[in-house]
Amino acid sequence: MIDVSVMIHDAHANSVAHGFWTTPEDLDFDVHVALVHSEVSEALQEWRDGHPLGEIRYAWPLSRFYSVCCKCDVEIMEPMEAVSVCPHCGYRPKPVGFVIELADVLIRLTNMAGHYGWPWVPSAGVPCQGKMPKSAAELVNILHDIIGHFLIGAGDPHQGYRMSGVIRLVESFCAAHSLPIEQAIKEKMVYNATRPVRHGGKLA
Ligand SMILES: [Mg+2]
Ligand SMILES: [Zn+2]
Repeated sequence: MIDVSVMIHDAHANSVAHGFWTTPEDLDFDVHVALVHSEVSEALQEWRDGHPLGEIRYAWPLSRFYSVCCKCDVEIMEPMEAVSVCPHCGYRPKPVGFVIELADVLIRLTNMAGHYGWPWVPSAGVPCQGKMPKSAAELVNILHDIIGHFLIGAGDPHQGYRMSGVIRLVESFCAAHSLPIEQAIKEKMVYNATRPVRHGGKLA
C-alpha cells in the first residue's frame, strides 16, 4: 500500500529543497497539470519501446569507456542497465521504465497536493466505476482524461478526491499486472533527492 501522506510530505519537501515553487512558472497551475500529462505520455513511450511494464532500468550517462561509472571512472562489471548504484562511489543513475513514469505521475500529484493543500482521501475508490483498464494504452487514456479534470482549478474542493482516485487507479493497475509501483516510487524519490538544484536549471 502506497503511503500517500508520507509522499505528500516528502515529494513536496524535496521539490522545495531543490529550488522549485519560487518562479512565476513554478506557480502556474496549468504548468503542473501539463507536466503530469507529460509523465503519463512518457509511460506510453516506455511501452512503445517494448520494455516490460514492470521493468526498472538505470540510465547511466555515457562515459569515456563502456561499463565505467561516469562519476568515479571505476569499471562496473555487470550490465550497467541493471546496476542501481555505483558500488565504488555511491553514484545513483536515473531509474527509468513504465512503472517509474507511473511513479512520476504520483510524485508530481503529491508534490502539488503538498503545495495546494489537497487532502489524501483514503475512502476514494478506483475511478471509472472501478473498471480496470485492460491495457497500458487504456490506462494512459483514462489518466489523461482524469488529469484534464484537474484544470477546474487548484482550489476546487474535489482535488484531493480526484488525486486519491488517480493513486487508487495506478495502485490497482499495478497490483493487477504485478508492477512494483512502491519500489518505483521509493527509487525515484531517492534519486530525486540526489538531483541538482532545479534539476539542472529547469524552467519549472
Ligand atoms: Mg518521467
Ligand atoms: Zn562510481
